[in-house]
Amino acid sequence: MSDCIFCKIAEHEIPATIVYEDDFVIAFDDLNPQAPVHTLVIPKAHHESIIDDVPAEVLAAMAHAVSEVARIKGLEEGFRVISNKGEAAGQTVMHLHLHVLGGKSLGESLI
Ligand code: AMP
Ligand code: ZN
Repeated sequence: MSDCIFCKIAEHEIPATIVYEDDFVIAFDDLNPQAPVHTLVIPKAHHESIIDDVPAEVLAAMAHAVSEVARIKGLEEGFRVISNKGEAAGQTVMHLHLHVLGGKSLGESLI
């Protein structure tokens, strides 16, 4: 998708603070962090959301990337993973992404 900002990050066309990368996914720090650690995990291929026929190998790579982010960022105490699907859920970038949030006590409520 030529006008998708996350596709451009995946293709290294615009800068990002990259935390982890492999053939299927890339993880980078969120520009507007909501916690001391706020990293986004995205597939390199453009999928709009978690229910957009994402291949199993890509979903597995995203789960692996979450574990790599947790290890690299030192989130042994715990972390939260969120994926917003659709405008009603607050999705603003229409390229699938997992928010990995941590680095402080997040409490028990979801948001
Ligand atoms: P969502 O609201 O779930 O679609 O989340 C989109 C996230 O992308 C927000 O947390 C933004 O701060 C983040 N974001 C938008 N543009 C960039 C960018 N160029 N680099 C890093 N994070 C970004
Ligand atoms: Zn995209």
